[in-house]
Amino acid sequence: MELQYPKLLQYQSYINGQFIDAHSQSTFPVSNPFNGEHIAEVTNCGIAETKNAIAAGQSAFESWRQLTGTERGQILRRWYELQMQHINDLATILTIEQGKPLEEAKGEIRYGASFVEWFAEEARRIYGDTIPGHQRDKRIVVIKQPVGVVAAITPWNFPNAMITRKVAPALAAGCTVVIKPAELTPLSANALAVLAEEAGFPPGVFNIVNTSNPSEVGKELCTNPIVKKLSFTGSTEVGKILLRQCADTVKKVSLELGGNAPFIVFDDADVKAAVKGAIAAKYRNAGQTCVCANRIFVQAAIYDQFEKSFTQAVRQQKMGSGLAEGVTIGPLVEEKAIQFVEDVVRDAIQKGATISTGGQRLGSDTKTLFYQPTVLSNVNTRMKVFTEEIFGPVAPLFKFYNEEEVIQMANDTPYGLAAYFYGCDHARIWHVAEALEYGMVGINTGMISTPVAPFGGIKESGFGREGSKYGIDEYLQLKYLCWDIND
Ligand code: ADP
Repeated sequence: MELQYPKLLQYQSYINGQFIDAHSQSTFPVSNPFNGEHIAEVTNCGIAETKNAIAAGQSAFESWRQLTGTERGQILRRWYELQMQHINDLATILTIEQGKPLEEAKGEIRYGASFVEWFAEEARRIYGDTIPGHQRDKRIVVIKQPVGVVAAITPWNFPNAMITRKVAPALAAGCTVVIKPAELTPLSANALAVLAEEAGFPPGVFNIVNTSNPSEVGKELCTNPIVKKLSFTGSTEVGKILLRQCADTVKKVSLELGGNAPFIVFDDADVKAAVKGAIAAKYRNAGQTCVCANRIFVQAAIYDQFEKSFTQAVRQQKMGSGLAEGVTIGPLVEEKAIQFVEDVVRDAIQKGATISTGGQRLGSDTKTLFYQPTVLSNVNTRMKVFTEEIFGPVAPLFKFYNEEEVIQMANDTPYGLAAYFYGCDHARIWHVAEALEYGMVGINTGMISTPVAPFGGIKESGFGREGSKYGIDEYLQLKYLCWDIND
């Protein structure tokens, strides 16, 4: 891998200010999803290293929390600047271990760094409150304090940004962190550790435990009483396990889990804009994001027109190596992912769906992880594409007739992360926006992620918010002081 700053490539785990090997000396392989090439052997930590990282976090917490918000903010700001300075290298590492096109990877680095920039500023705005006393001699003050050591378990689809989105508010609040990155993408996490050290975070404030045994390390993070908070992004299935594991020590928890986003196009929508939005919301990261449009509902009067121009736009997507010019869709991340996509498409076809474009794994070589960008028509609610999070480049188009029907279908899922709709009528926009049971709603846009707004879901998509003025509260606890002024 050609990097301008080769030091960013680290294969160990970062604990208490040092890159270390596992006690067992064991490692696990990391490969490039584009061609299966082996790119690294990474330290395989277990419970002992996890305990060390937690202990390092605990001892660093005592002094880190004493800094002023401005002082913590200055270090965060330097971390942000270093990420922007090394954006090309960070994006290259990301593309090679994850597969997404380089331009998209740069977008992720910018997006990830923007949370660090945002929370560098928020660090000095951790305001409390004064409350008029309930008796004449009482004075009441509310202060906010950092919760303590935070565990962050992050996924492979955004190997950089899912870390910064958790870690930046935690560090701004005065907490210390132990991160367990996804085993498919540990190198992006390690690169962030190199820059964190250069930015000036003291040893123990920022720790990374890499492992190929997430359930063992995850259990330690969830059950260790020193850890006061778990922030997790990943599947609903794993999120439920972690929530149960956190129960015995009554940890504060935030979960950002799976989605099943509806994307609704009403008959008064600007079809061209809706097609553009649907492409952005569906095919980003080859469909592997939790806010990807999962079910596209199009009103009957414009269904044929939308299907035609959407299919044309999908045919223009270019698959290939993330490092190649002009590529918009990379490989899926692993064999399991592609088999899942094949299964949902097979199920849809068996139940009567038709393929407008795509519909297959690329080429006859089953070793490639490319799945053709696909549009399915004539789909219905009995198919897996209605109930399952597809997590691949497959867009099912549903036809609907009226608002009531589409809201019922859109909400007919245990998930509640993101939803999107396109239309012009103002009264309907408010009505639909309020009726959708989702944490985030894009109206006439397919792109909703920004550090200035609260990202997060409801129902089985989780709870807690990341980004915005609300995001830092996940890492703070309220304490109220009641003074009797006569004593
Ligand atoms: P995805 O479907 O995105 O791979 P997962 O929920 O499997 O989602 O993975 C998200 C993160 O959760 C990864 O860091 C993974 O290693 C971790 N993980 C998976 N299983 C467990 C588990 N049993 N305990 C703790 N962490 C886990």
